[in-house]
Amino acid sequence: MDETLLKQALEFGRPYAEKGKVAHYIPELSKADWHDLGISVHTIDGRQLRYGLHDRRFTIQSISKIINLAIALEHFGFDAVFHKAKMEPSGAAFNSMSRISDSEDIPFNPLVNSGAIAIVDLLLPMGLEAMLSSARNLCADNEITLNEDVFQSEWTNSARNHSLAYLLKSKGVITQDVEEVLKLYTQLCSLNVNADNLASLGLLLANGGVHPVTGRRFLEEEVVRTVVTIMLTCGMYDGSGEFAVRVGLPSKSGVGGGILSVVPGALGIGVYGPSLDEKGNSIAGQRILEYISRTEKLHIMDRFIRHPDSAAQA
Ligand code: GLU
Repeated sequence: MDETLLKQALEFGRPYAEKGKVAHYIPELSKADWHDLGISVHTIDGRQLRYGLHDRRFTIQSISKIINLAIALEHFGFDAVFHKAKMEPSGAAFNSMSRISDSEDIPFNPLVNSGAIAIVDLLLPMGLEAMLSSARNLCADNEITLNEDVFQSEWTNSARNHSLAYLLKSKGVITQDVEEVLKLYTQLCSLNVNADNLASLGLLLANGGVHPVTGRRFLEEEVVRTVVTIMLTCGMYDGSGEFAVRVGLPSKSGVGGGILSVVPGALGIGVYGPSLDEKGNSIAGQRILEYISRTEKLHIMDRFIRHPDSAAQA
């Protein structure tokens, strides 16, 4: 893999951007330029490849749910986490209220808004500073900060998430102060990152939680296995099934335009393209990842295929 491939992938994805729209339901996000595209790839042998707006800052939005899930698993363990949310794809929109409103159940998974808010109920005692510091560590960037404008914009337009959170409180899933839980959830969605940061986090996940160059362990193996499995099944919301077929890489999107993808044992990939499809996933970003996955044969199910150039057929 080299930067020429990243350029080709980006140019392949570019025409799709005009078919989507930047997020509007958080007014501050509507200021993003829909043309913007960037990609960053960090390899297990220590190379950092990039093309386009790889260092353009945008808010992490739902990709924070990966960090939250990993930290919650590390600190509180598997049972406590999956007492708050199941591990099933919901097949519903990211902010859907369906299926939790009419049953006694907990949210479908930690990557839809309802499940993510429930996970932040666990994280609340840690507070913003500790979570920000975890995000900086996992993304290898001390300059990650809270984007106050995006936070305020979402906070004053968060009737939907408030409804979800109060519903969860009424069911006893949220045990702490609802406003405080939702405030921390929204702040964690409002961290300014770039595609390089997502590639760094992706590389840690690709390498079982250990930084491949320094050898430092950031996450336990069991945590990584759980997180990447949920990314594969639930990371692209109600587009997760199609994305798994087309791209075949554990990934997580955010309405800020980022997608983080993991190539097991090999690569962390961060893509930025704020023009979104109707499901809230970067429209060009998905095509860029599909191009790279196909060209480099990275689909995790490719092991079921005998490639013409594979050793087994030689
Ligand atoms: N902060 C956003 C929300 O709660 C995140 C949604 C997303 O990125 O999909 O609606």
